[in-house]
Amino acid sequence: MRRLLAIGILLLAPDEAAPEPAAEAEIRPVAASFEAAPATPGTKPRGAPATAPAATRPERGQAPALELVDVQALIPDLVLDLRYATDDNLFGEPVYPEKARCLLLRPTAEKLARVAKRLREEDGTRLRVFDCYRPHSVQFRLWQIMPVRGYVAPPRPGSVHNRGGAVDLTLASPEGEPLPMPTDFDELSDRAWHSYEGATEEQKRNRARLKAAMEAEGFRAIRKEWWHYEDPEARQAPVRDLPLDG
Ligand SMILES: [Zn+2]
Repeated sequence: MRRLLAIGILLLAPDEAAPEPAAEAEIRPVAASFEAAPATPGTKPRGAPATAPAATRPERGQAPALELVDVQALIPDLVLDLRYATDDNLFGEPVYPEKARCLLLRPTAEKLARVAKRLREEDGTRLRVFDCYRPHSVQFRLWQIMPVRGYVAPPRPGSVHNRGGAVDLTLASPEGEPLPMPTDFDELSDRAWHSYEGATEEQKRNRARLKAAMEAEGFRAIRKEWWHYEDPEARQAPVRDLPLDG
């Protein structure tokens, strides 16, 4: 309830009522690795409930770069903390199946594996993920529960999570415990912004370390969520609705 009140406050503040001008609207050049192959039969999105329209872009074929891979296969020590599979999330109810996996486009997952390797080799620090690929049908559900631009992307055109090119994550100790950060995942306040200076030195150091490690492999941060990173090359991958536990 406290979070819902926070949203009300944000909506009343003129500065915050405007749509987030950053990441979601920007279209970056398409990298060659994400060029789609000619459409092939049998690659249509599946599993979309009747209430959710089909993907906003036609499925353009399953080039290897558009394959969604289980990130734990590339990062065996990845810590899964997929909040949307539990009721410990902004929405207070599970919106993912219990056995949800962390899926990403293969080139994005490979970048994340390089981030994990770098941190592991430095001092055993691990990555702990809150959200990865998000089925398009879930985006409709989130938008129904919370239609607040800047925090939930509208289902059209869909978010980079729906394309398999965004990941929400934090740093974890060698034992997998989350390292201190300025806020918990999905806290809707200015304390979640990268520019927030009121956190402890340790929290700010961890936030900066995660950002530097992610940017070193080409991921981009967004201003208002310290946990959210996007692969700019994934922006023109298709929005899809695939099962997380298949
Ligand atoms: Zn995110």
